[in-house]
Amino acid sequence: VESYPLIIVGSGPAGTGTALHLHRRDPALAREALILEKARHPRNKVCAGGLIPSAVERLAGLDIELRVPHVRVTSTEVTTPSRKVELSDGDLCWVIRRAEFDAALVEACRERGLAIREGEAVLALERDGRGVRVRTTGGTYHARMVVGADGSGSIVRRRLVGEDRRRMARAVMCDVPLSDGTWSGFVSQRYDFDFRQVAGGLPGYRWAFPCWIDGRPHVNVGIYSLEPLGVDVNRSLSDYLDAFTNQPARRQAFPIHYYRPGAPLAAPHVLLVGDAAGADPLMGEGISLALEYGALAAAAAQRALETGDFSGAGYQRAVEASPLGKKLRRLCMVTRLFYGRGWRLWFALAERSVRLRTLGIRWYNGIDGWDRRSGWEALRALLTT
Ligand SMILES: Cc1cc2nc3c(=O)[nH]c(=O)nc-3n(C[C@H](O)[C@H](O)[C@H](O)COP(=O)(O)OP(=O)(O)OC[C@H]3O[C@@H](n4cnc5c(N)ncnc54)[C@H](O)[C@@H]3O)c2cc1C
Repeated sequence: VESYPLIIVGSGPAGTGTALHLHRRDPALAREALILEKARHPRNKVCAGGLIPSAVERLAGLDIELRVPHVRVTSTEVTTPSRKVELSDGDLCWVIRRAEFDAALVEACRERGLAIREGEAVLALERDGRGVRVRTTGGTYHARMVVGADGSGSIVRRRLVGEDRRRMARAVMCDVPLSDGTWSGFVSQRYDFDFRQVAGGLPGYRWAFPCWIDGRPHVNVGIYSLEPLGVDVNRSLSDYLDAFTNQPARRQAFPIHYYRPGAPLAAPHVLLVGDAAGADPLMGEGISLALEYGALAAAAAQRALETGDFSGAGYQRAVEASPLGKKLRRLCMVTRLFYGRGWRLWFALAERSVRLRTLGIRWYNGIDGWDRRSGWEALRALLTT
């Protein structure tokens, strides 16, 4: 049995983000940790690949530049249940492909001397008095601390923290080559959101994101919905796709485990990060959050290994008290407003007020620190600017 102070399960942005943040805090400790990944990079991940500005800012804080192919998005067209609104406000998003992006983060870990074993799936985890025994397809390990960065279906969460099936959303997407100018979004650096079906019972939206795949322009088209689904998502996606192509497109679906206030994020010797902990229920965004969870988990793991307190309670409190926890709680509230029974009122307010829309997007994207400011400041800005 190989022993490690820390094992990180999963090498998506939450796993590599945790490792890179730990390296920033304590390079020697980070080099003693091990990342276990069941796939081999570059691996496919079902994802639209939109990086909001706060994700790119977090990467810059880790000295990581966005070198993989991407489309910069500077405007958006949002269709609400009753009208179309447009918005442009500087950089809104950068669209990457996850195979390339995640492989680049893994490469950045390797450049810093961090250990990653790919092609090794975690099969079982069991707590003992000193930590966690981890059995994989390649062997058995022991770790004082385990970080569950293994995504929405997290085995770490299910085995060591507890399952919560009520917090699943569903997303289905396809990549459509753009050859005939059927969609203007790629050239105009725009992404589209369609909330029309909220009126018909869809707790979610459809999207179209411009992206590069193998050097060719594409549009990534998809649908996101909380469960229970409310409408037939496959049919709804087919209707939406008609505007982009008349060819059959391959669909890829994936569940999204989203955050709920009070949900356990830790247990003795275990911390959850990224989708394993919980993504954004409103839009299904999770890359920026994964990097933010990673920063807090790195601090908590370092502290636990220094003090010998492996209860995980400090991490739970740290997330809840942090700007991340505050943003997640507000996202849950906004989700209830826009997808709940009062949707008409909230969409009507967003349709009518340019200020509200601009501030909402700045808050969501983390521009000018808006995701870290108080509700009073936001209210003042709404009434006075
Ligand atoms: C259709 C769709 C569209 C999306 N669009 C966006 C978007 O535009 N922008 C955005 O920010 N977010 C988006 N998301 C959400 C985003 O994909 C996730 O929030 C993000 O991937 C979370 O990162 P993570 O590292 O927590 O998990 P993941 O990226 O899922 O990584 C988990 C890793 O753990 C590995 N793993 C799993 N089980 C094991 C095991 N047993 N042993 C070892 N390794 C294991 C996996 O192979 C994987 O590499 C989308 C999601 C979907 C489904």
